[in-house]
Amino acid sequence: MPRLDHDQVVDRILSMDERLRELSGGRTRLLPVTKAFGPETVLAVLAAGHRAVGENYAQELLAKHEALGDRSVEWHMIGNVQRNKVRRLVGPVAVWQTIDRPALASEVARRTPGGRILVQVDCLDMPGRGGCPPGEVESLVSVALDAGLDVAGLMSVGAAGDPTATREVFRTVARLADDLGLEELSMGMSDDLESAVEHGSTMVRIGRALFGDRATGDMT
Ligand SMILES: *Cc1c(COP(=O)(O)O)cnc(C)c1O
Repeated sequence: MPRLDHDQVVDRILSMDERLRELSGGRTRLLPVTKAFGPETVLAVLAAGHRAVGENYAQELLAKHEALGDRSVEWHMIGNVQRNKVRRLVGPVAVWQTIDRPALASEVARRTPGGRILVQVDCLDMPGRGGCPPGEVESLVSVALDAGLDVAGLMSVGAAGDPTATREVFRTVARLADDLGLEELSMGMSDDLESAVEHGSTMVRIGRALFGDRATGDMT
């Protein structure tokens, strides 16, 4: 699959913005996910008028941040974070979307007091994917608030290839956020964005639908 050029990427982002406006009436915004693509893709995102960019891997986020210098990208960390990586990430990362355990919340609070986070919820009990079981979300939110973090909302990943299970995930997470009075709902990716929007997503994290397939053998 050939890489898209700058103008094509800008066009696709603008079309996706338009599609989201139509689907959600303005409730759902786009978080472009640039994992496996280079800094030039982030430049195209900026050119399309977006500042927020999602990345999955600490090293890759840091490398792109370095390559781009001070371009005011609002980096969202959307992949699992090891506690020992937090210290290096606190400069660039604006939103920590994958806080899923008290030890990680404490470390982020210690390194970046008042930092903005989302609690990642795992409704599917998928090993290795990260996320806190729904039954533990309330106590983790309390821990994070007590540590002084800005808990903006919840984040979750659907069940790949299973629209029914995915709807159930989105419904559960939306209800939890509502119960806890949290505004931000980061849910929906290229394959399930419409379902996420239906369930009240405020932020869809989109990679492939904007930038094309990631090269095989990449880190996903
Ligand atoms: C890769 C990834 C995305 C983007 O997925 P696409 O299918 O490329 O849209 C969103 N969220 C998370 C957590 C991811 O790992």
